[in-house]
Amino acid sequence: MTPPAGAGRFAPSPSADLHIGNLRTAVLAWLFARSTGRRFLMRVEDLDDRTDTDIADRQLQDLAAIGVTWDGPAEWQTRHAIRYDSVLGELAEHGLLYECYCSRKDIAQAPHAPHAPQGAYPGTCRNLSDDERAIRRLETGRAPALRLRTDASTYTVHDLLHGDYTGIVDDFVVRRGDGVPAYNLAVVVDDAVGSVDQVVRGDDLLPSSPRQAYLAKLLGYPEPTYAHVPLVLKEAGARLAKRDGAVSLAEIGTKAAVAQIASSLGYSATTVEQMLTQFEPAGLPRTPWIYRPD
Ligand SMILES: [Zn+2]
Repeated sequence: MTPPAGAGRFAPSPSADLHIGNLRTAVLAWLFARSTGRRFLMRVEDLDDRTDTDIADRQLQDLAAIGVTWDGPAEWQTRHAIRYDSVLGELAEHGLLYECYCSRKDIAQAPHAPHAPQGAYPGTCRNLSDDERAIRRLETGRAPALRLRTDASTYTVHDLLHGDYTGIVDDFVVRRGDGVPAYNLAVVVDDAVGSVDQVVRGDDLLPSSPRQAYLAKLLGYPEPTYAHVPLVLKEAGARLAKRDGAVSLAEIGTKAAVAQIASSLGYSATTVEQMLTQFEPAGLPRTPWIYRPD
C-alpha cells in the first residue's frame, strides 16, 4: 500500500508548559496520522508575543518523552514571515482585504444586523470610501488590522467526530494591527505548505474551522479532514490550567502520564506504540476527560 502523501500535525502554542490535556491531544493527533500511514509534523505556533523559546523547547522535549515522533525538524511560525506576506499580497491583489480600525470595544458596541450571527464582525469598515479611511486612520492613530472580504456568512466542514459542522464565516482578521499574521491565516498557510490533510486538535477550536476551511478554499488549497477531540477538564467543567496542581509532565512523570492518557482512551497500554495497535477512531470517547490532579 502506498502511504497517502498527506500529513497530520500537532501545533502547540508556547505560552505555557503542556499539561496532560495538551499531551493527550498530541497523542491523539499522532495516532490518527500514524494509523493512516501519514507523516506527522510538529509546528510551534510562536507568532503571539506571549510565546517563550524555553517553553517551546520544553514542550518539544515533553512530546518526545511520551513517544510522539515527528518527521523532519519542528517548524517555527516566526521563521516563515515571507510565506504569510506572500499570501496576504495575493489576497490584496484580488481586492479581498480591507483595513479595519475598530477596537474590541467598537465591535462589541457596533449595531449588528438583526440576523447576524453572534460574535461576527459587523462589517463597520467594509465599505468605507478612501476619504473615510483617511479620517479613521487619523482618528484612531494606530495601525489598522486587515480583514478578509468574505462572501459567505457560514461554512460547513466535515468532522470525523462531530459530523457536519456549520459555523460563522465573517470578515475575519488575517493580519493584526501590529503586523503579525493572524492565527486563522497562519494555520491555513502552514497546513497547505506542509501538505497537512488531517487536522486533529482540541474541540475548543471547532468554531474556527469553518473560517479556516473557507480561506483554504479561497486560496485553492485542499480542505483537510478534521477531527476535533474532546478536551480535558477539571471537575467543575472548567479548563485545566497550571494552577490546578500536578498537570505537567514534570509533575506527573512520563510513565504515569502515558498510562493515564491510555486509560482515558480506554486502552491498556504503557506506550503510544501500543495505543497505535488498539486505535479505532469510532471508539473514541466523545465527552471531555475529567481530570483530577493527584
Ligand atoms: Zn472595523
